Amino acid sequence: MPDDTLGAGLSVTDYAPIAELTGRSLLAPHVFNCNAPDSGNMELLWRYGTQEQQDKWLTPILEGKTRSVFCMTEPDVASSDATNMQATAVVDGDEIVINGSKWWSSGLGDPAVDVLIVMAYTADESADRHHQHSMVLVPVNTPGVNIKRMLKVFGDYDAPHGHGEISFENVRVPVSHFIGGPGKGFEIAQGRLGPGRIHHCMRCIGAAEKSLELAVKRGMSRTAFGKPLLQLGGNFERISEARIKIDQARLLTLYAAQKNGCSGYQSRIDGNLCY
Ligand SMILES: Cc1cc2nc3c(=O)[nH]c(=O)nc-3n(C[C@H](O)[C@H](O)[C@H](O)COP(=O)(O)OP(=O)(O)OC[C@H]3O[C@@H](n4cnc5c(N)ncnc54)[C@H](O)[C@@H]3O)c2cc1C
Repeated sequence: MPDDTLGAGLSVTDYAPIAELTGRSLLAPHVFNCNAPDSGNMELLWRYGTQEQQDKWLTPILEGKTRSVFCMTEPDVASSDATNMQATAVVDGDEIVINGSKWWSSGLGDPAVDVLIVMAYTADESADRHHQHSMVLVPVNTPGVNIKRMLKVFGDYDAPHGHGEISFENVRVPVSHFIGGPGKGFEIAQGRLGPGRIHHCMRCIGAAEKSLELAVKRGMSRTAFGKPLLQLGGNFERISEARIKIDQARLLTLYAAQKNGCSGYQSRIDGNLCY
């Protein structure tokens, strides 16, 4: 539900067109403190964090003083299914001990990163598969947290934020660092990624609009063989197809945003469809 105590109180659907506009620029999402992965992590902490966790981790991110990382995806398992995660979080007295590897952890190269949100298997065999994982807050400077390397996307490191591979070797944090309690990892992952993917899609649509705009401008201003480039070969058709595809993608994403606003994955697995 939208809440204006920490921001403008926009729903996913309200925010989608803003994400499109900011997606036209590489800088704009950061300027408005709405960049991935922090926007999704802020939503996660706002929805599922305790007051104490919000005061300690959420407020500094909202103020733009620190950055955060979401560590779900793992090298060894198909991570599009969040129930596959193998990193472990075992309770030992009043501490949680984390072991495992993660990669594609966006923002890991940013020197302002303060906290990692780590999804790990909490090994409760009595629970169903959607309640066997947890989300744990891990300060980045905790002993046993090792940044192994940064990864390239289409040949680029996306500096200065980047995407990293990271390992956790007997990393210990207090049990108060569970978000929403043990077993809530899957629900939180879906609750985070639902809106988060829509933000990503809308930013990509903004980038596509900007690219099309540049192509049209160039096609109209440059002349070859006595005609603007746009009138040569199949260029009108190419531009028209791009126009149609971008509009289709926007409408589909807005449709998903509307669904996301009213249902959420948890209600779906509970059989409470919101269609
Ligand atoms: C630039 C970038 C940034 C990222 N940032 C983060 C981050 O900050 N934190 C994080 O935890 N992860 C991050 N990721 C990882 C991303 O979330 C995963 O790559 C994604 O979830 C897919 O997991 P996987 O790579 O293990 O692919 P797999 O699960 O192995 O899937 C491989 C392919 O199988 C096919 N497939 C899988 N499931 C289905 C299905 N149900 N139906 C049809 N086809 C299917 C798809 O083609 C899919 O691409 C990032 C990835 C990239 C590229």
